[in-house]
Amino acid sequence: MKYLGRLFERNQAWAGERSAADPGYFSRLAHIQRPDLLWIGCSDSRVPANQIVGLEPGELFVHRNVANVVPVTDLNAMAVIEYAVSSLGVRHIIICGHYHCGGVRAALEGHQAGAVALWLQPLRNLAAAHREELEAQPSDDARWDRLCELNVVAQVQAVATSEVVQAAWERGAELAVHGWIYDLEDGLLRDLEVTEGRVADAGG
Ligand SMILES: [Zn+2]
Repeated sequence: MKYLGRLFERNQAWAGERSAADPGYFSRLAHIQRPDLLWIGCSDSRVPANQIVGLEPGELFVHRNVANVVPVTDLNAMAVIEYAVSSLGVRHIIICGHYHCGGVRAALEGHQAGAVALWLQPLRNLAAAHREELEAQPSDDARWDRLCELNVVAQVQAVATSEVVQAAWERGAELAVHGWIYDLEDGLLRDLEVTEGRVADAGG
């Protein structure tokens, strides 16, 4: 338990530092949550949502799963989107994939079983739908990274056509769905420029 014990020590140090710098910090956060952004990303430990965009607790509503897949039949993801859009009123939904995604790789290799294989079925379908483009890539790595990008584009489409987002647009809500990708090699994000919807002010 030594390792886990250290996590509690770190937590106490972190909470102490925050309170020392701003005595009202936790009481304010405890009473209000008003993020402007919903982040849908991969569970990969190397892609920590808040850290890579420099946002504090309270600023980002986050949903992560293996390979950032958003099937409309996934009650978990749909509930997150519904809560974020209808209750929190977020104006931006960011689907953020990443290059060298293990989930995407597993779907490309396509020979595993169990829950992960079932979960990745939409990615296998996506790879089949884009077989020609993927086969034209110069290397396995290029194929892998291209499928990471295609996955983000497909998930932007899935979220944009979901019931919750369509209903928000019908009632005139300012809401945009963006597709970004993160590069593990340099820590940088890239906008795939597949945004759906609009928000008057690009700022938060
Ligand atoms: Zn991943």
